[in-house]
Amino acid sequence: MGPTLPRRGLLAAALAALAAPAMAESASLGGEGGAARLVLPGAAGQAWRLTADSRPARLILSLPRHDWEGPRGLPGAGPVRAANWDPRARRLMIDLSGPVAMPDISKEGGALVLSIRPGPAAAFARMAGPNRPIAQGQAAPRPVVVLDPGHGGKDPGTIGATGTYEKRIVLAAAQEMKRRLEAGGRCRVLLTRSRDVFVPLAGRVEFARRNRAVLFVSIHADSAPGARGASVYTLSETASDALSAALARRENAADAAGGLNLPPVPADVQRILLSLVRQETRQGSTRLASMAVSALRPRVPLLPNTHRQAAFAVLKSPDVPSMLVEIGFLSDRRDEAQLNRPEHRAVVATALAGAVEDYLERPGLGVASVG
Ligand SMILES: [Zn+2]
Repeated sequence: MGPTLPRRGLLAAALAALAAPAMAESASLGGEGGAARLVLPGAAGQAWRLTADSRPARLILSLPRHDWEGPRGLPGAGPVRAANWDPRARRLMIDLSGPVAMPDISKEGGALVLSIRPGPAAAFARMAGPNRPIAQGQAAPRPVVVLDPGHGGKDPGTIGATGTYEKRIVLAAAQEMKRRLEAGGRCRVLLTRSRDVFVPLAGRVEFARRNRAVLFVSIHADSAPGARGASVYTLSETASDALSAALARRENAADAAGGLNLPPVPADVQRILLSLVRQETRQGSTRLASMAVSALRPRVPLLPNTHRQAAFAVLKSPDVPSMLVEIGFLSDRRDEAQLNRPEHRAVVATALAGAVEDYLERPGLGVASVG
């Protein structure tokens, strides 16, 4: 019996993810055996605060970070006369037809659910008071996204024809992307390096895993003769093309450039490591990469067959969906000129930040989007 439990747990999780709606759902209020059942999709992970007021009788649910979906007014049910969202104060005014008991508050998936039933007047009067919350919830910690500006320190990466250093350009792009993502407020952003220092490739992967990153985005601007435009790479044992294979080979040699002498990994260990790259992680990486390509397409020149695969060492986290973005090639003079312009880097950073936010918004799709 023991061994079947984890499997059942996984199946339940997969079914729940399949059943979960992909689109934002509206708030709803319904009757349930004399009680009112208020369902607020998307509010479960947010901070909230519930207060009661006796004249007139109402409950006030403050949701300072909530984006309300659907009509602002909800028709009443049970002891609730009506509920109205105040978008300026970001709170839901729940007007009552009489005193109610302390609501039952639970989380169902991403929804905050309140069950409100009539209760004794004296107890309700004791709950009432605008400054005393009768219940409150903390925001769930925001997911961590790790951005990985390539190279650094004694490893300059590619040096362009007019002397542009890849390590500087990619750091500037990563910092810009971090600013955009943090302004969006949906995630916490950590950089594998925020200065001009050398970080071994394994250290970059380890950093993402140690910080429980939900996503890892490596940023480069390498050299590839004849190639121009941005491109996105995900991990594969076999490269999709010669250019991707060459890029991976050169990037993977960065540790040697840094003077670090890593022991060679035997082929069978390599195979075991790769088999650890779970299907789920691969699907997440692929989805992230296609979102990145869609976000970049209308805004910047792209390399043909923009999403490619190769065995980049920095993409080898078994459990963190990862992609490597070549924001352009410093071996191309036009790309070099563009990448030197902060405005161009801002366009790239905005597109990539948008892709990351899209990904974070729909975490359940990794299971449901097969095919
Ligand atoms: Zn590079």
